[in-house]
Amino acid sequence: MTDELLEALNEPQQQAVLYDGTALLMLAGAGSGKTRALTHRVAHLIRQRGVPAWRIMAVTFTNKAAAEMRERLVALLGQDKLPWVATFHASCVRILRQEIEHLGYNRDFTIYDDQDQLRLLRELLKQRKIPEKELKPRALAAFIDHAKNRGLTPQACAQQQIDDPDLIELYRLYQLRMKQGNALDFGDLLLVTVQLFEEIADVRRRWQDRFAHLLIDEFQDTNRVQYRLMQLLTGPQTHLCVVGDDDQSIYRWRGAEVSNILGFDRDYAGARIIRLEQNYRSTRTILDAATAVVEKNSDRRAKNLWTDNPSGDVIHLETSADDLDEARFIATEISRLQRQGEALRDIAVFYRTNAQSRVLEEALRGQRIPYAMFGGVKFYARQEIKDALCYLRTLVNPADGMAARRIINTPARGIGAATIERIAELETEAGGFMAACHLALERNRLGAAASRRVRGFVELMEDFTRRLARLPLPQLMAEILQDTSYTPALQEETQQALTADGRQEAKGRLDNLEQLLAGMEEHISNDGSLQEYLEQVALMTDLDQHDSSIERVTLMTLHSAKGLEYPLVFITGMEEGLFPHSRSGNGNADLDEERRLCYVGMTRAMRKLYLSHARRRRMYGTWQFNPPSRFLADIPVALLTGYRAPSTFPVSTSAAPASQHPTHNLAGLVDLVAAEEMDQSAEVYIPQQKGRPAPSTSSADPPADTGGLRLGARVRHLKFGSGVVRRLEGSGDKQKVTIYFNSVGTKKLLLKFAGLMPG
Ligand code: ATP
Ligand code: MG
Repeated sequence: MTDELLEALNEPQQQAVLYDGTALLMLAGAGSGKTRALTHRVAHLIRQRGVPAWRIMAVTFTNKAAAEMRERLVALLGQDKLPWVATFHASCVRILRQEIEHLGYNRDFTIYDDQDQLRLLRELLKQRKIPEKELKPRALAAFIDHAKNRGLTPQACAQQQIDDPDLIELYRLYQLRMKQGNALDFGDLLLVTVQLFEEIADVRRRWQDRFAHLLIDEFQDTNRVQYRLMQLLTGPQTHLCVVGDDDQSIYRWRGAEVSNILGFDRDYAGARIIRLEQNYRSTRTILDAATAVVEKNSDRRAKNLWTDNPSGDVIHLETSADDLDEARFIATEISRLQRQGEALRDIAVFYRTNAQSRVLEEALRGQRIPYAMFGGVKFYARQEIKDALCYLRTLVNPADGMAARRIINTPARGIGAATIERIAELETEAGGFMAACHLALERNRLGAAASRRVRGFVELMEDFTRRLARLPLPQLMAEILQDTSYTPALQEETQQALTADGRQEAKGRLDNLEQLLAGMEEHISNDGSLQEYLEQVALMTDLDQHDSSIERVTLMTLHSAKGLEYPLVFITGMEEGLFPHSRSGNGNADLDEERRLCYVGMTRAMRKLYLSHARRRRMYGTWQFNPPSRFLADIPVALLTGYRAPSTFPVSTSAAPASQHPTHNLAGLVDLVAAEEMDQSAEVYIPQQKGRPAPSTSSADPPADTGGLRLGARVRHLKFGSGVVRRLEGSGDKQKVTIYFNSVGTKKLLLKFAGLMPG
């Protein structure tokens, strides 16, 4: 059996599997079999060394990577029990479900996503009378996340005194409200686990004793709080094995610290370092080209990465007139490949920003090529899905204030913002939002009409709580959607919405809810509980829904491509300002990170790589003329076809223009995010040269299908209830309508998506 597990590995990989000491670092380039060696090591520990599976914890970067690793382990181990294989976040949830009561939370805590987070921050800003113009909720969220990634509580931030005291105070209030709501955000999952282990020695020791082996993949992208967690989980007997590639560190912008990998042998004296040098994934051409790009980075440990694979095809460099042309080229080429017998699931198209995906999608649809896109708006973040899930969240954790606020007037029950505010005032005293509803009723805090409506809502929720005990999850969900008139209202909208888009939109939402119910069916058929369901959903990223067995092309950002491999890869938008992205203008360190991202992208390809750039590209409504990416110029000419004169490339050492955003501290980061939000065009650097005014297409927009919507017309909206049209402005896709709603007052909506019905 030993032979079987070791046979499929080369000499250094075998050493990594057999290594018996307590600290091991596998530091090696892309495609060199790090993940494979790590997986085999786990199998070997269980099979050969008799380590019980429950004493092993393997950490991966995404849920998808975890699922893949589990699959590989099943193949290697057969019926044997599997160890913990999960992301840091999922591991922390498991630990916290058992231990969080030590910190004064309840085990039924809710996990807040970024929407919930923003909603709460908005409320806090409002309470503190800070206008959103002065401090964007998103900027505040970035500040808080950044602090959490560095393992800093509000108290720790205050002690360090490097950040703006107002921001720290908001962070403190935010944490307070989260705790009241018995809720944790993503950053908390890690931070609170660290806090748990730091504060309660017994618990820490217990977990240290439990895990004899801790293995971490993609170690170069761990942040400070993750590193701390690793240290806290590592007792004197723990065997640590970390795996990574400093050249693939691409999450520095999110707090990852490459020093974690480069300084590992400092913190763990005597750590064994094993280097893998043979790449099994890519052709020699692809490997040489990728290496040539990443080699330009100054601050880098030299590596020797070679392959026995054949040279294969040269890299195809495509120059297109504009982004539409680029998309058309890709779709046409994919069709051609398909006719040649290539499988669509073997093809991936990568881009730097999500905004680039739309034209690609359209081109693929135009040629009837099935595709799956990752990123974009996550399924579980969609409005109707969140509405539905917030009902469940409120049932499971009635203290979850954000969920309850979301559904109290969705669908419209005539409960307005003022009533909700009045209830919220009692939230702390009552110990949760639902309890505050009761208290407000008891104390007669609300007007007669509002009282009646709130009572109706409370009774409805109580009724659902009773059903929770006896109904299977999908049926409960279906009944909630029916009894609250949520689906009936959408069904009506599919017939009666005022615009064709509105009708289509309603149909899409119903389909999504169907999918949600199907997902729940599947979950309970695996004996999962409601709590587990909500947990899975909260930790799910779109990448996790990736099913590689289905015959379709994959579309994703370069960042999400990490760790994956595809026989045929297209990297699009290889233009200055886009890739390297203009944000890399902040300095050489950022430019280095873009370069590593390029290396990651290129090394995903096994057999053939396509690189494309467009001479002009429409972004945020204007044409941008960007020269080809400097990364293209770094690839030896002999490895490319379609190569053009080098004079068209920018000098490869010149940095993109530096914007003077202060980023020396967290407050600086806030400024940066705020500045970028205010000026969306800053998203992409526009060279001063060659600008021709953009041809306006607005005159060509189709006339709006407004179904005869007129000023003064009575309309109905799923969430806000009935109202009167006060103003119409703009045309086509951009037509906006201002409506006075009885429940919430005046709202300005994009007509296309408002889903309005005659009132
Ligand atoms: P990345 O840096 O992109 O995460 P990696 O170092 O983790 O890459 P793997 O994904 O483990 O590399 O391996 C890359 C490819 O090479 C996989 O298809 C894997 O099955 C194959 N491979 C790895 N080691 C060997 C080996 N010894 N013999 C044959 N194939 C191998
Ligand atoms: Mg890997």
